Amino acid sequence: MAQSKVWYSPAGATNWTESMICKAKDLFYAAGLDKCIEKDDSVAIKIHVGDYNRTACLRPEFVAAIVEEVKACGGRPFVTDTTTLTYHLYNNRCNAQMELEGANRHGFNWASFQAPMVIADGFFGEDDLRVELPEGNILKETYIARGIYEADACINLAHGKGHPITSMGACIKNFGIGAQSKRGKYQTHLSFWGDPEEAIGYPKVNKEGCKGLECPYAKMCEDSCPEEAIKIEADGVELDYTKCSLCYSCQVTCMFTGMEGIGFRDEYFPLAQIAMSDAALGCIKTFKAGKIGYMCYAIDIAPECDCFPWHGNYVAPDVGVFASMDPVAIDTAVADLIDKAPIGPNSRAEELGLKPGEDKFKAINAFTPRIKLKAAEKIGMGIMDYELIEYEPELNPENIAKWQIREIPMTVKPMRQAFKNHHLGRLIGSGHPLEFGRHKDVKTWTEEWKNFDPTI
Ligand code: SF4
Ligand code: SF4
Repeated sequence: MAQSKVWYSPAGATNWTESMICKAKDLFYAAGLDKCIEKDDSVAIKIHVGDYNRTACLRPEFVAAIVEEVKACGGRPFVTDTTTLTYHLYNNRCNAQMELEGANRHGFNWASFQAPMVIADGFFGEDDLRVELPEGNILKETYIARGIYEADACINLAHGKGHPITSMGACIKNFGIGAQSKRGKYQTHLSFWGDPEEAIGYPKVNKEGCKGLECPYAKMCEDSCPEEAIKIEADGVELDYTKCSLCYSCQVTCMFTGMEGIGFRDEYFPLAQIAMSDAALGCIKTFKAGKIGYMCYAIDIAPECDCFPWHGNYVAPDVGVFASMDPVAIDTAVADLIDKAPIGPNSRAEELGLKPGEDKFKAINAFTPRIKLKAAEKIGMGIMDYELIEYEPELNPENIAKWQIREIPMTVKPMRQAFKNHHLGRLIGSGHPLEFGRHKDVKTWTEEWKNFDPTI
């Protein structure tokens, strides 16, 4: 089978053409993403907006860069994400209002990228359409956010980083969780699968690990359950599975506070990866062939997902930007290049003593992210075998000018004239003596500055 092509431009820049923005725009065309868009297509640009107080999510400029090119191709772009499954005291994306408040704080709005920010699954994550998945590994149906389902074309614009459940988040996760409505997310998270006490997706109680009333978070833990299914007793937590509606609030409270009373079953994690690939296929099936392009910025590579309201030190330095028409190939390339990269200083990867080349997210998040890639390959989403085409823009006058805000450089009229009119020209014209209040002896200061350099 032929390899899938993945275009990649490494992070780092020494001139205008090598800005991450310029390289992303170049890759958009090199990988043929422009061909996904026909005139007047409604184009969903799917991003992860990140939780409130999270700063390792994509910056709005990276999104604006792609909005501009979708418009240049004749498309009508909107930038989009969905509400979260999790209800929690401090979750800030549970409904569209809260999510938009956070999105605005991140700068994800019309003012930044000149396109609407749309929460694709409605006010409370219930606006969706069902997609059948007879070919799915685990899931046989899922529910796609209507705003994405109804779009003509899509650019899956992902952020490459870790993920506590599915090991790594990139393009497949951006659809497999991010394009699902709340019902779809229940599917991806394997909720209601089996009998409650034994079921994979239900909270796993570890009574011995619970500190009971001694736990400083006991009240928060009880209060955060919307179903009053949790009681904290002196000897630990009691969870009434018959009341549980699987909102994940109790896992968030306990695990995020570093406690060990409620968590997940170990086998939940690899199975959730496989389900996520199934659900991603559900999203892909809502578009005609050739109408989805994939991009991923592997930068700010935090160990955990953008849905955390903080981020740990980056497990690797910025890797770069990727583009492809194959979601499996692009995510495989992202995982491979993050693994190949040096270890981030003071990161979890360094704490674990990892070396470049080792599977970083397997060590950090317990399971390799390649489980979902193999699952996705099995159901025909794409192939893991890829040809990596490394791209570095050539430095020449034409390339410098290509992605600048003004087509006419500042050094020509009328800016040249404006400089003459102001500053020195105006001062000279007004008879200003051009004597600024400074030390008079320039020559002394060509040596004197060295007294201020503590390294000399
Ligand atoms: S017991 Fe169920 S409903 Fe209650 S917080 Fe936990 S997951 Fe949510
Ligand atoms: S947060 Fe965890 S350890 Fe604390 S009371 Fe709840 S279940 Fe027990």
